[in-house]
Amino acid sequence: MVVVMAPGATPAEVQAVVDLVRAAGGDAFVSRGVSRTIVGLVGDVADFDALNLGSRSGVLRVMRVSVPYKLVSREHHPARSVIRVGGVPIGPGTLSVIAGPCAVETPEQTLEAALMARAAGASMLRGGAFKPRTSPYSYQGLGEAGLRILADVRAETGLPVVTEVIDPGSVEMVASYADMLQIGARNMQNFALLQAVGAIDRPVLLKRGFSATVEEWLSAAEYIAQRGNLDIVLCERGIRTFETATRNTLDISAVPVAQQLSHLPVIVDPSHSGGRRDLVLPLTRAAVAAGADGLIIDVHPRPRTALCDGDQALTDADLRELADAVTGLAPLMGRVLAEPVQPAVAA
Ligand code: PEP
Ligand code: MN
Repeated sequence: MVVVMAPGATPAEVQAVVDLVRAAGGDAFVSRGVSRTIVGLVGDVADFDALNLGSRSGVLRVMRVSVPYKLVSREHHPARSVIRVGGVPIGPGTLSVIAGPCAVETPEQTLEAALMARAAGASMLRGGAFKPRTSPYSYQGLGEAGLRILADVRAETGLPVVTEVIDPGSVEMVASYADMLQIGARNMQNFALLQAVGAIDRPVLLKRGFSATVEEWLSAAEYIAQRGNLDIVLCERGIRTFETATRNTLDISAVPVAQQLSHLPVIVDPSHSGGRRDLVLPLTRAAVAAGADGLIIDVHPRPRTALCDGDQALTDADLRELADAVTGLAPLMGRVLAEPVQPAVAA
């Protein structure tokens, strides 16, 4: 059950709802969005019915939502949402391209990749400083030093930064450098981490776990929303199937399915899906044609020397070819490319 508060509801009115629910033996979580405050109820619906919450001061309406993910469902919020990251819109009407290296390696490599991304029309920079690798012997990332590099490159290029956070204890620290926090596929059901990013005021990019159903993915998003953060973008990045020719199988149907079930934007990562440079362009075309709200692409100035995922990283020439394809396809899908932001300092 979800209680939608009226636009001008006071904190005391919200608290009164929470107190009533708790006194009735349930629990209540307040989510404060930009335009509305929502109280998600946990417990026995029959007990809540008796409270007659719809007639309380400051309450707009009380909704029963049939799916396990309520705040992120379209049942609760029929219009599709636009999430803004450092001024860049992600959602219906636009196509937002995020590009950058899989991992931050050096200041020079990160700046070169960012300049490639910006020249190709990307509106955001990606780059991992904390890398949750399958093998403990693989490159694990630069940690906080990598975040400082990302912040410097943002200052130089004006590109907002998305980077991964891998443990609840470092959420605040990563958020102090990043414009958007990425939850990786391997952590999609790390519930303590989801709750930690849900408690802060920073947009979240939630990748789909490679063995997660769409319902599990949306339920993971609900963990974030329930703690108060509704600025979530979903990312389909390929799932594990019997097929070994590709790193993962891009589940293209997950794009329209997730968009039908949830109001959150859905973007696609064609790099981690196929795991192969030559597949990034065709998978990008498929993603745009399926209605994706954006793309997140691995690029590297010298993919052969990349410390992480070099096989799937695009070169400058590859990225320009992809940008041309996206520029041609976006209008066919009724979308404009999200504008690259203006550099804070001329690069
Ligand atoms: C990444 O984007 O760098 C990454 C590790 O992706 P995923 O979590 O989808 O494997
Ligand atoms: Mn990677």
